[in-house]
Amino acid sequence: MQNQQPDYSLDREAYEDQVDRLVSSAQSRKGTIPLPLTFDSMRAGLAIVCALLSQVNCDKCEAKCCKSLPGNVYLLPSEQEYLSMKSLTQPCLFLDGNRCLIFHNRHRPLTCIRYPYQPGATSKDGIPAIALASECPEACRIAKDVYMTFRQMKQKFVDVGEEGYTENFFGIRR
Ligand code: SF4
Ligand code: SF4
Repeated sequence: MQNQQPDYSLDREAYEDQVDRLVSSAQSRKGTIPLPLTFDSMRAGLAIVCALLSQVNCDKCEAKCCKSLPGNVYLLPSEQEYLSMKSLTQPCLFLDGNRCLIFHNRHRPLTCIRYPYQPGATSKDGIPAIALASECPEACRIAKDVYMTFRQMKQKFVDVGEEGYTENFFGIRR
């Protein structure tokens, strides 16, 4: 799975159309939405994924992900032991209406906690990258927001260069 990037040189409207098409295409394939975010360490990857997941607001969703589990969902050994099962199957036993009964439990499966993040994506240079599941409505919204914000950052980067960015954006003086 390789992450692609839209054309940042387009004007805002054309760029937005391109991002919309990228997200719609992922939705029609029921595939993943590649984001323009790469990471070079587990710590950086974790920080990005945490920031993205904190933006997911499930309030208006009818637990779409929990109602369409893909076959048997893998559980870590500790989760298997605590939940007394080998894998999560459809329908999930822990779903009550649209609520997860074990949402705040530390043994809620990692697969559930990290959703809609989709592991295994890379940039075209083979660098680990971030991708989200297009079946999640919040992932689609967040992906569009990230692309629009990233364009602004990219444009400013072109204006000030790496040195200027390090100093003015991150506040790091060398
Ligand atoms: S599909 Fe997305 S928005 Fe809906 S419940 Fe799952 S994570 Fe939340
Ligand atoms: S354990 Fe909770 S979050 Fe995971 S599929 Fe079941 S109801 Fe959904």
